[in-house]
Amino acid sequence: NLGKTKELISLTEQYGANNYHPLPIVISKAEGVWVEDPEGNKYMDMLSAYSAVNQGHRHPKIIQALKDQADKITLTSRAFHNDQLGPWYEIVSKLTGKDMVLPMNTGAEAVETAVKTARRWAYDVKGVADNQAEIIVCEDNFHGRTMAAVSMSSSEEYKRGFGPMLPGIKVIPYGDIEALKAAITPNTAAFIFEPIQGEAGINIPREGYLKEAFDVCKAENVLFIADEIQAGLGRSGKMFACEWENVDPDMYILGKALGGGVFPISCVAADKSVLGVFNPGSHGSTFGGNPLACAVSIAALDVLIDEKLHERSFELGNYMQEKLKEINNPVIKEVRGRGLFIGVELTEAARPYCEKLKEEGLLCKETHETVIRFAPPLVISKEDLDWAIDKVKKVLS
Ligand code: PLP
Repeated sequence: NLGKTKELISLTEQYGANNYHPLPIVISKAEGVWVEDPEGNKYMDMLSAYSAVNQGHRHPKIIQALKDQADKITLTSRAFHNDQLGPWYEIVSKLTGKDMVLPMNTGAEAVETAVKTARRWAYDVKGVADNQAEIIVCEDNFHGRTMAAVSMSSSEEYKRGFGPMLPGIKVIPYGDIEALKAAITPNTAAFIFEPIQGEAGINIPREGYLKEAFDVCKAENVLFIADEIQAGLGRSGKMFACEWENVDPDMYILGKALGGGVFPISCVAADKSVLGVFNPGSHGSTFGGNPLACAVSIAALDVLIDEKLHERSFELGNYMQEKLKEINNPVIKEVRGRGLFIGVELTEAARPYCEKLKEEGLLCKETHETVIRFAPPLVISKEDLDWAIDKVKKVLS
């Protein structure tokens, strides 16, 4: 009996703008890797809210931090100081190895901040002539849905009807070092990239690409800016996906798991030579750096570090990838991934398989039509992972 579910979906469809195509399931409760619909059916979450729930749903330490902080102070705006922001800055600075941090709320806002930083850095530090700064991005990127982010996109679907786009953006193929060299001019401010492209279907750059791109950017005085919003914070089996090639970007863009799936918080982190370009009045956000978000994020980062979730992701991810590679079915074109950030590319549409997996109790979402993404919360137990692998084998064999 799915009465309540049907009612809730029809309300959503009646009043909501039609900008999403969710699987027909309503989630009303969750704990760890498990979620439940209003009828009490249980499912395993294999998406983790696009990697925002790396710490698992409602991690007790994060929820406790939320409750404790809610009893004290939730919002001051940046017109005044609050007692959570400084300690949070220190943790993020130590984690990223960067001097400075600028807080926002959503991933796309942090990307906007990166674009504004890069442009101002180009004018104030690099000496580019006014309004001439250029930013280089990669085909098939996903940096969010604001105007700057869609202007950076190569997807017609994301841009249609939203023009005019932001000028000064060049799109080059992902993984192509010659294209990067050719795109750089004296006006180039930054190269903004995902160290693993998430929405594009878990695209892993060929070995050596990140290092080569880093070297090119260093030689040309171009900021090397890693959008680690989805791949970072343990998801790829390292704390940051850039670590796969031991590159230290000029700026990290973080979001999603920074708030442990409990409260939105995002940021950019960079050294003073870069983030020092801001002065009072040049940028901000009413909710950015609010004490509730900071308290939650401190707990979310503590959990990532204390529970060594990046190591867990590495080990369990290797295990899951091996098991998925054992499935012998010509419909599977490729199994690829880093840690528990895994894409199974099919020769046909992935959506029907996601629907079948849902019938088996496993919640996955297709990305880029033909790829099923497997990205469970990193706290998943080996037993639960084995259960999931059995279900995937059943549906994909
Ligand atoms: N950048 C990357 C790499 C992402 O994966 C996403 C979201 O999926 C974003 C930016 C945008 O984040 P948000 O949806 O919080 O604005």
